[in-house]
Amino acid sequence: MEFLFIDHRHPLFSVAMLLLVVAVVALANYWWGLLRRRDQDKKLSRFLSRFEADRKARDYKSVLSLQPDSTDSLMLLASIYYKSGEYSEAIKIYLALLEILANKSVRVDVMVLLGRTYHKAGFMKRSRDILLDALKIKARNPEALEILLVIYEQMREFNAALEVLEALEELGRDTTRARAFLQAGSIVSSAALSDEHKRERLLALWQRAPFLSRQVLEFFFNTHVGEAWRQVDASRAKAAMDLFWRLPRDRFNETEACKHPFLRQLYTAKGWIDAASESEVFEFSLLIALGEKREMADLEFEYICSECMGEYPLYFHRCPGCMAVGTARVQPILTARSEGGHEASAAFY
Ligand SMILES: [Zn+2]
Repeated sequence: MEFLFIDHRHPLFSVAMLLLVVAVVALANYWWGLLRRRDQDKKLSRFLSRFEADRKARDYKSVLSLQPDSTDSLMLLASIYYKSGEYSEAIKIYLALLEILANKSVRVDVMVLLGRTYHKAGFMKRSRDILLDALKIKARNPEALEILLVIYEQMREFNAALEVLEALEELGRDTTRARAFLQAGSIVSSAALSDEHKRERLLALWQRAPFLSRQVLEFFFNTHVGEAWRQVDASRAKAAMDLFWRLPRDRFNETEACKHPFLRQLYTAKGWIDAASESEVFEFSLLIALGEKREMADLEFEYICSECMGEYPLYFHRCPGCMAVGTARVQPILTARSEGGHEASAAFY
């Protein structure tokens, strides 16, 4: 028991004190860690239970009422829903935000996001209405105007679309292609213009906007077949190769087609004529090489946007992904021929 009574001047006293301090610190650290872990567990448990409740209730408005600072998190969540195609969830969040938010500028941003989501979900009129409301608050809003332009195009309200285009031009946007595309749509769908006037105006417009080849040729093959064949040249034929491939047989003009090397290759590959031994298009060459067995194979087409490189099964004048105009590039795909033979094309009526 003598060590308990060590004199404080004894060297062992210092060592004993040091060991005591180390022991106290270690014990304190242990308890502090234990308390922190318990606290973290409680917080995590509270967070998970709240998250679960939100998931069940889907009540974003009450979340915002209870936690006004969750606006940014909900905006992020809505953006994730939008990108993953869950538009109805994104719409619920934006509607809840609009009921709670007081800041005018942020409200306009949310209105535009809601309009964009409604548009993607196919609710054209709701999208148009909310965007028009947003523009009443902030007229110079290029994002709202861009979406509104597409909506008016799709609703075939060309005059309204041209008004939006003027507003975009005032904001410095390049609207050359969009304007030509709208003018072509307006001419084609006009009830006031005669077929002859439509033909004249489209030809004049086509000269100024060569990217309209597919659109104008489609119109001509349905209304002025002779004019369509007269207007064909190498670049126009390539740009509309799917249209020529799917052309109804009674609109085919062998004499005119044989004037163009590309169309000689295309229709030889198709088996309608025998005027080429190979082609600059790999898929055409394969079909030509099949000879009499080419009936076993057929071509399908996909459309690639040269702007965003998105791939789509149907032709588009305006890219469904990035909304660029006149950027569809036609890509043939070799397939086995189905029993029904050539698929009828929606381009012809
Ligand atoms: Zn695109």
